[in-house]
Amino acid sequence: MKLSRHVTPMLLFAVLLSLPAPAQNEIQQAQSSVFLHRTGKHSVKSVRSAMGSVFEITAVHEDEAVARAAMEQAYAEIERIEALISSWRPDSQTGAVNRAAGDHPVQVGPELFGLTHRALKISRLTNGAFDITIDAVIRIWDFSKGESPVPDPAILAEKRALVDYKSVQLSQTEQTIFLKKPGMRMGFGAIGKGFAANRAAAVMREAGVRGGVVNAGGDLFVFGLDGEGQPWRVSIAHPRDKSRRIADLELTDQAVVTSGDYERFFIHDGVRYSHIIDPRTGFPVRELTSVTIICPDAEAADALATSVFVLGISEGLSLINRLKGFSAILIDVDGKVHLSQDLAERVKEVH
Ligand code: AMP
Ligand code: MG
Repeated sequence: MKLSRHVTPMLLFAVLLSLPAPAQNEIQQAQSSVFLHRTGKHSVKSVRSAMGSVFEITAVHEDEAVARAAMEQAYAEIERIEALISSWRPDSQTGAVNRAAGDHPVQVGPELFGLTHRALKISRLTNGAFDITIDAVIRIWDFSKGESPVPDPAILAEKRALVDYKSVQLSQTEQTIFLKKPGMRMGFGAIGKGFAANRAAAVMREAGVRGGVVNAGGDLFVFGLDGEGQPWRVSIAHPRDKSRRIADLELTDQAVVTSGDYERFFIHDGVRYSHIIDPRTGFPVRELTSVTIICPDAEAADALATSVFVLGISEGLSLINRLKGFSAILIDVDGKVHLSQDLAERVKEVH
């Protein structure tokens, strides 16, 4: 927080528009529908694959060598986190916890313990709409191809019985995690990129970078000011029509994280099945197309974007309206935009 002494976290300005998206040369476009406008003087950018996504990091510093060194450290941090938390890597701490499910608790480092603890808090806050143990069900859906069969109901029911955040037992004194049921699995697909974005930004700040952006596959965290000494300008495009901007934001020390049904999905018999699953049914949720959360913490934004996607318009917005410092932009399957109360009060709609 060193850098933010003179700049408090803020959402300075938001306006809803039905205007064309900015020209390609004005923007940096990630995989998703979030656009980062000008980065200004003394800014350098680098793009790399990590955590199954494309990361794009921007750093502002008068000395380019300092900016580049800081970005290297940020990428090293992201890779370290991935190696630690990935449920796909057998040598990760998460892999060890999953292998011991139903058998014994596993001692883990403070970072995985903390992340799991915070994830379980979000589960309690959302009555289980967010659940890291959804991983057992995720493995039987295949969202990597355009077309795939819907899983067999008997297998789905069997895996669904393993989804239960209340059966994740943490021991603070022993620093252990125990998944009580054999076959249970935990995974951090809905929160890990936010965690990594927070850490990458912290590492860059420690390395002396005064302003920057970590774009973790469309999950953005902006800190400090851009190369012109101005707040970062970010636009959100309509997920089904990238030529239409739905919000322009001016931000500093804020995360803008989107969960969408367009990231990983397949179509079967004309029905879209996407990668965000309702733990109660084991099936993809279908009320929304995208949920964007804006708040000062990328990890919380990541977890809550997925949560609100599962909770739906009414419950999701009522949760965000109860939380201080969180804003939300929801787009339903008919393309209609729904805003959290704070945004609804401050935006102008232009049709
Ligand atoms: P995100 O893009 O952050 O919304 O995360 C989506 C990913 O989180 C999916 O690809 C799954 O790996 C995982 N996931 C799906 N549904 C849930 C859920 N209800 N709770 C927690 N994680 C989920
Ligand atoms: Mg998420």
